[in-house]
Amino acid sequence: MDISKGDDDLSLHELLNKRKKHISSSLSIGHGQPLYITKGEMQYLYSMSGDKYLDLVNNVCHVGHCNPHVVKAGQEQMAVLNTNTRYIYPGLTEYIERLSKTLPEGLDFGFLVNSGSEANELAIRLARSYTKKNDIVVVDGAYHGHTGMLIDLSPYKFNGPGGKGYTEDWVHIVPVPDIYRDNSRDYIKEFEQSISDSDAISAFIVESILSCAGQISFPEGYLSKTFEIIRNLGGLCISDEVQVGFGRTGSSMWAFEEHNVIPDIVVMGKPIGNGHPMAAVFTTKEIASSLGEMEFFSTFGGNPVSCSIGMAVLDVIEDDKLIENARIMGELFIQGFNELKEQYQIIGDVRGKGLFLGIELVKDRETLEPAVEEAQLLIEGMLSKNILLSIDGPRKNVIKIKPPMVISREDVLRTIQSMDEILDTMCN
Ligand code: PMP
Repeated sequence: MDISKGDDDLSLHELLNKRKKHISSSLSIGHGQPLYITKGEMQYLYSMSGDKYLDLVNNVCHVGHCNPHVVKAGQEQMAVLNTNTRYIYPGLTEYIERLSKTLPEGLDFGFLVNSGSEANELAIRLARSYTKKNDIVVVDGAYHGHTGMLIDLSPYKFNGPGGKGYTEDWVHIVPVPDIYRDNSRDYIKEFEQSISDSDAISAFIVESILSCAGQISFPEGYLSKTFEIIRNLGGLCISDEVQVGFGRTGSSMWAFEEHNVIPDIVVMGKPIGNGHPMAAVFTTKEIASSLGEMEFFSTFGGNPVSCSIGMAVLDVIEDDKLIENARIMGELFIQGFNELKEQYQIIGDVRGKGLFLGIELVKDRETLEPAVEEAQLLIEGMLSKNILLSIDGPRKNVIKIKPPMVISREDVLRTIQSMDEILDTMCN
């Protein structure tokens, strides 16, 4: 597994040296060590030195790295036509129509863009133009994108390393309803209190399972009650489905559906193009029309190649029954992790749904002191067994599991077995 050995040594070092010369150090390297990856195939990544990794991190290559059906769709369309939305072509209208059919009635109008950040920018712009108000409500610890405005509203960024802290009075932060850490708080009341100083709420932007904030599932009724509060104040509700959408939670296409809510605006990203840079915003005709006279144009958004790729991703999700696979594999994971929890005190909480799971590690089940070093050791141990995992959450003690949706029973059992072995050496 030592990728710094052998014939590849020079080229890895060369690449790292060139990287230092030309690429900002603000672009980090994952997994604590440089992995020189040369090939992806479904749920696996292959390194230069021939190692095969099980990828439990990549929630972008949703239907599998280099899924042949998606690759073919992109290649074929690229050889025929690639223009932009100022022309008429069936791919655009058919793709938007197909996506809108996966959404609740009324969310019929779609905009196609290039990244989750661009989509969230547009969602906020639409909310502001429709409500003619300015303020945005966001959950603590959330991340919604890397543009200037989105960094200003993402506590994960402005309160994180290098951030300038809270500075924007149009941003209202509501607490994370983390019932594992504190079940006694009235999170709805706290939500109301956190926004009570504003009479200009334009929108509440929220994921339906919190990702960067620590893989947190909402308590029952939380989203429906908070949506009601926002709407009573004249604001809109934006579901950021960039991480949790496209069936990842294993029971519905969109994670908000599990909470019996219908957002005013839905934002899609990451898995939408299986790695091809695409994203989308869906909303009602009225909200979509609120941009008024100003033209909307995103040079690459909705181009024929992107639409073909997007269609192919939807084909695979349907044809290969990937939502069902996410449910079955997710249940298997949860069962295995809960068995490990009985064995190892360090596992404080196992949570999430489908293939969007979190394992929170604590030093003590009473004090809930975060087991930060141990989380690091665990993912390093898993890496030594060629299984890729990541850590997140405000305390950096939550192991995230969000693999390509094509993962198999064998992969799940191998993950649980490997985790058992690592925890055994760590804890006993
Ligand atoms: N929203 C969420 C929930 C995200 O996780 C991300 C990316 N991590 C974004 C928005 C931004 O997407 P992108 O990186 O495609 O701009």
